[in-house]
Amino acid sequence: MTSKVYFTDFRTTHEEPLPNKFKRLLRTSDFGNLDFKHKMVAIKLHFGEAGNMAYLRPQFAKVVADFIKEKEGKPFLTDCNTLYVGSRKNAIDHLNCAEINGFNTVTTGCPIIIADGLKGTDDAEVPINLKHFETAHIGRAVVDADIIISLSHFKCHESTGIGGAIKNIGMGCGSRPGKMMMHNSGKPKVEQDDCISCGTCYRNCAHGAIYFTDKKAAIDQDICVGCGYCVGTCPVDAIKPQGSDVNQVLWEKMNEYCYAVLKGKQHYHISIANAISPFCDCHPNNDYPIVPDIGIFASADPVAIDCACSEAANNMPIMPQSLLAEAKSKKDAPEDIFEALHPTTDWHTGLEYAESIGLGSLNYEIIDIDK
Ligand code: SF4
Ligand code: SF4
Repeated sequence: MTSKVYFTDFRTTHEEPLPNKFKRLLRTSDFGNLDFKHKMVAIKLHFGEAGNMAYLRPQFAKVVADFIKEKEGKPFLTDCNTLYVGSRKNAIDHLNCAEINGFNTVTTGCPIIIADGLKGTDDAEVPINLKHFETAHIGRAVVDADIIISLSHFKCHESTGIGGAIKNIGMGCGSRPGKMMMHNSGKPKVEQDDCISCGTCYRNCAHGAIYFTDKKAAIDQDICVGCGYCVGTCPVDAIKPQGSDVNQVLWEKMNEYCYAVLKGKQHYHISIANAISPFCDCHPNNDYPIVPDIGIFASADPVAIDCACSEAANNMPIMPQSLLAEAKSKKDAPEDIFEALHPTTDWHTGLEYAESIGLGSLNYEIIDIDK
């Protein structure tokens, strides 16, 4: 099967600014064929961690919400709470963070509902019977929605290489218990010879799993839930995932959660490939983008859109000041930009598993709406 991935770049004119061009992409793509009438439509996005400035602009969400309302649908913006220390681990903090980052009913034209409720426990168990999970714990408001729209900011991710549609839906729609189940095979360890005793991991572990012995950090494996946040925050990469297949298992689990969210529902996926940062938007910082801005992708197929974004990014020049340029300057750096940046990751095999469980296809054709 060859899936269609619609695309537009960021070239604009006075007559057609980006919001209008984005709307033309939605109209031209299969998105315009969805039956929104009287349907409750979950627009799943990431509101950005406080301090991060690469996350998706609210204007993109407004274009999508307005389009759905024109088709008589009832859109809402949604995300689930996080596992780690930060500004989005319960609904109160999460809504405040969304507001501070510019998401409200005026800027986006629709309400925000935190899908797994006040403390991240309001979920529903969706039966899936796949390799890792018989059921998936998905935020209740996502399960109750009639249509799922993924609106994702395409960027890198320290555990999965890329963060696109599948990450947005699979990991993002898991309730806090669901996220723990996805993460719990990947508890990391500190390589103490490399630890510079800065304390960053200790301050950022939401579960109190990090302690110090002889001024070096260590992780209590019984307390750690495997959220992986400390891996990304350590400034000297002293914290490593254990086992060579930890990130592949995470990919597989995330794919199974994505399957649970989309199962039996109309769904569509939009990925904005700009400000492509080296880490997830869960980080309170974003650093230089690794490649120039690419454009907007839209597809009914979450596998095809993730593959298209990843391959397009690999075909871009590398930004000279970025962490990717540093990674690529190392001897024997992998060809693939995401693997060069995060060497324990492999997005190809992650997407191959997605294809094997019927989430979509790795074969795609790009339909550039300007050609
Ligand atoms: S020690 Fe475990 S629970 Fe704490 S941040 Fe690291 S992975 Fe998460
Ligand atoms: S963040 Fe890294 S260097 Fe700092 S204390 Fe933790 S393990 Fe050591």
